[in-house]
Amino acid sequence: MSYEGKMLEELKMPTRKEVERALLKSLYKHGGVIKEFGAGEDIVEEIAKDFNLNEKQRSAFLETIYRKENRPKRSLLLHRLLFRAADNLAKEKLVSRPTQTIHITNKREWMLTEGGYSTALKILGVSAVQKEILPIKSYEVQKIVKKLNEQPRPTNYDPFDHTKKTSKITKETKLRSRGFRQAIIEAYECRCAVCGMKINSPDTLQWEVEAAHIVPYSSNGKDDIWNGLALCRLHHWAFDVGWFTLKDDFKILTSQQIQNLPADFGKIGGYDFIRQLSRESLTVLLPKRKEIHPHQTAMRWHRENVFHL
Ligand SMILES: [Zn+2]
Repeated sequence: MSYEGKMLEELKMPTRKEVERALLKSLYKHGGVIKEFGAGEDIVEEIAKDFNLNEKQRSAFLETIYRKENRPKRSLLLHRLLFRAADNLAKEKLVSRPTQTIHITNKREWMLTEGGYSTALKILGVSAVQKEILPIKSYEVQKIVKKLNEQPRPTNYDPFDHTKKTSKITKETKLRSRGFRQAIIEAYECRCAVCGMKINSPDTLQWEVEAAHIVPYSSNGKDDIWNGLALCRLHHWAFDVGWFTLKDDFKILTSQQIQNLPADFGKIGGYDFIRQLSRESLTVLLPKRKEIHPHQTAMRWHRENVFHL
């Protein structure tokens, strides 16, 4: 048995398989990504707690000889164990390695793959249906997010997807729609573009804000960053039914029908949710990069086809 193997056995450390499961759970809990295991990382602490490791188990060092330079090298046994488990998950294509992830996120992180995400859901007993709803990152989806963010902004943008002729939802369209959602929510920093509302679930996994299509998906609107807007549920609904729209300069234009509403409509306690929109010429909150702002052609279509003057 190897020196490392002996130490693992003597200290009754968890098995690699057990650590692999714990890592998948942690990845899920952290939205699909965790940093490399440097000294003192939160994730190391979290997993140590998960296994109820004692002080001896946490602080055991491996002393090896660094062959190239012929000098002794000390590494934490727990870090070694975590690395070996993550390395094996990467071999099984359940996570992407930090050397791969860095090309997508510019950070050295371990990230779930689609396969790893499904496995994590199984381990946690979460329904597979949730995969499309939860904002957990996966390597494949983040690749799409990067592409959506980096494609050059066209002058004449066509917001319609003409290829979407079938009603069959393929794996690719599912990934694309998740990529759209991630890209929009990240671009708007998890805030509603109209009211600025930002809130997540108590487990921090889900954002309240939604990625709204400007030209709706049901009208063959594209899953593009230029055809999207982050909106809270109330404003998403009001936008989709045509209570308000956007002008070319991103100012909000509200329906004149508001004047005909009974006085008690559209109020949340003392807050006048619907009339607030037309109170002054509000401009929506936009991402810092102009290249990813909603496109004028998409907004024009919304003004002409969805908005009720
Ligand atoms: Zn809102």
